[in-house]
Amino acid sequence: SVAATTQLLPGVEAFLSQSPFPSFVAGKNFPAASGQMVKTMDPGSGETIAEIHDLSAEEVDRAVQLASDAFPAWSGLSKSDRRAILLRLADAVEEHKPVIAQIEALDAGKIEAQAQGDVQNFVDTLRYFVGLADKVETREKIDAPGFDAWKYRQPWGACAFIFPWNFPFLLIGWGISPALAAGNTVVIKPAEDTSLSAIYLARLAKEVGVPDGVINVITGRGATSGAALSNNTQIKRMSFTGSPEVGRLVGEACGRNLVPVKLELGGKGAAVVFDDVDVAETAEKLVGAITFHSGQVCCDATRWLVHRDIYDEFTKECVKRMATIRVGHPLDPNSDMGPVVNANQRSRVLGYLEKGKAGGASCLCGGGEAPVDGFKGNYIQPALLSGSLDNVAAREEIFGPVAYIATFENEEEAIEMVNDTDYGLANSVWTNDKDRANRVAEAMVAGNSWINAHNVFAQGVPYGGVNKSGMGGGVLSPETLMDYYRSTSVVRPLS
Ligand code: NAD
Repeated sequence: SVAATTQLLPGVEAFLSQSPFPSFVAGKNFPAASGQMVKTMDPGSGETIAEIHDLSAEEVDRAVQLASDAFPAWSGLSKSDRRAILLRLADAVEEHKPVIAQIEALDAGKIEAQAQGDVQNFVDTLRYFVGLADKVETREKIDAPGFDAWKYRQPWGACAFIFPWNFPFLLIGWGISPALAAGNTVVIKPAEDTSLSAIYLARLAKEVGVPDGVINVITGRGATSGAALSNNTQIKRMSFTGSPEVGRLVGEACGRNLVPVKLELGGKGAAVVFDDVDVAETAEKLVGAITFHSGQVCCDATRWLVHRDIYDEFTKECVKRMATIRVGHPLDPNSDMGPVVNANQRSRVLGYLEKGKAGGASCLCGGGEAPVDGFKGNYIQPALLSGSLDNVAAREEIFGPVAYIATFENEEEAIEMVNDTDYGLANSVWTNDKDRANRVAEAMVAGNSWINAHNVFAQGVPYGGVNKSGMGGGVLSPETLMDYYRSTSVVRPLS
């Protein structure tokens, strides 16, 4: 059991003992009248740790109504009052960081130290957007000769958010911070595998005086509560983060209802490694990236394109590094990499390895289930495939600790290989030649290009995909804050 590895914090035990968890709406527990529940597991032990309520479509609609009812008062607060409340929430989340991080580690299979980083990131993001919204001109004079012209910026109303299971708490922070700071109310639908940290947040918000109905969490299955939220006609905006398949459904529903929608979807990022890099250091960083959260990272580098002159040496170094990754329970401080989120995901990843091999790829290391003493969790050994990129494992998103390595001869060919994908989320280029780095970074078609790094983020720097990786982008940046204001021009002719 979990306790065999680490003592759970008293706050975590107290929280889990309250299972089953209703949704939390308008400052109150909000149960599913049907009594339908969804089990949530610790993917590291395979044990059920809690149950959450699965709301019906009518209940979801009622939650949106309550979030809409709370909007006039919240949007009517002065900027400084709203700022004070949201900064109090940021402080409270920071104080509760150890507890939230441990809940997240258990629920999502996340290494505890990494979960702490996610919680801190939430806090930093909320503070960033609160600070930014404070400076937005909500009434701006426009220079239009002959007219007294103004642009007003006003929040929209109740905004909906559907989140995936890979970064449950962090993504809530990225999503709702700009919406709340601009004066909107929010309805959050976390993934059914990982709803606990969202429920914790909603309760904490109530405790620190966020007005009822401003932060609402609806729980349940994607096909029930998720679909109900995306089909709701009262929401003013929708932001969806998850798979392209579900993103398409959500986009269709919003299209029908003419609700503005932002989609953050999957990826099949590349890392282009030139022959002038420090081989050991670059291999270490890329192996670190693909094993971070067991490769369940949308912007990961999953295609490693390596200059042919260093291909053999680089590959050897990667294999050596992968063998040192310690797979174990997320709460065990000796673990480098935890499990994947559930048994389905494990089968999916192992299935891709088989399909990749059947398509002609060689498996250079890893790739089976990883036994972890005492646990029946969903553990996989990190794996490296190599071969032609014309392979299903090199083209489709696997979402596990699997990288596909291939070789290139020159810069032009490398860029072509990077861009030969339907996705466009994030890529990286690794070289000590600054001009080349800039050239390649610019030529790679995606929302994000990194130089000598992968998976790095900062508040203020826009993040988000293009093509099949999404639309709406600008996450974490001033652009996304502006999405949460609707603008109205107000014009009076002067004569
Ligand atoms: P998913 O699409 O299966 O689920 C995402 C959310 O949608 C969950 O809350 C789920 O309950 C809900 N959902 C499921 N069916 C629904 C329906 N019919 N209608 C409405 N909602 C529904 O994705 P996942 O498996 O949780 O996450 C993995 C995917 O997310 C990967 O493709 C990954 O690349 C992507 N992702 C993208 C980003 C990004 O920023 N671009 C970030 C994280 C994850």
